Amino acid sequence: MFHRALQGFIEVVCGSMFSGKTEELVRRCKRAQIGRQKVQVFKPRIDDRYSKDHVQSHDANRLPSIAVDNSRQILDLVDDNTRVVGIDEAQFFDDGVVEVANKLAYRGMRVIVAGLDMDFRGQPFGPMPKLLAVAEAVTKLSAVCVVCGSPASRTQRTVGNLEPNSTVAVGAKEMYEARCRFCHEPETHGQK
Ligand SMILES: [Zn+2]
Repeated sequence: MFHRALQGFIEVVCGSMFSGKTEELVRRCKRAQIGRQKVQVFKPRIDDRYSKDHVQSHDANRLPSIAVDNSRQILDLVDDNTRVVGIDEAQFFDDGVVEVANKLAYRGMRVIVAGLDMDFRGQPFGPMPKLLAVAEAVTKLSAVCVVCGSPASRTQRTVGNLEPNSTVAVGAKEMYEARCRFCHEPETHGQK
């Protein structure tokens, strides 16, 4: 097999909401751009909190991005001369995103994946556990627990289910807050 380049690898940046995952993804991508590396960022179309063609952290640090309907489209849209592929909100992708990330890494690309490692129930979220397993490097970021001030690893939903049993409730960060393991209440809406 011919390897065009041997430096391809996968990095995962994960953590709860408000832990700065997208900020970190944007920081890494901008740093690569300064190094004149071509960067493409993808996100699932479901995440249109802010805009359709930008990845935007909660701190309004923007980076152009491409919204796709499924992970397969990432492979179709990655250019041959791209060096760094960012994948934001990866928890919302189908399981195929794992193979996509692996393929891109084998093609010599640096793949930076950002996503929620756990849903608001504290359960592993979508394809994230598999992405964490195949990654060369993992960064777990923490937020600050709004109850006790400890480092927060979990996301608390603070309102009732709008869609019963749905883990996909995009759009309202007011519906969530960061909590540590001990203050997180997966079975309630966090009314203390
Ligand atoms: Zn706490």
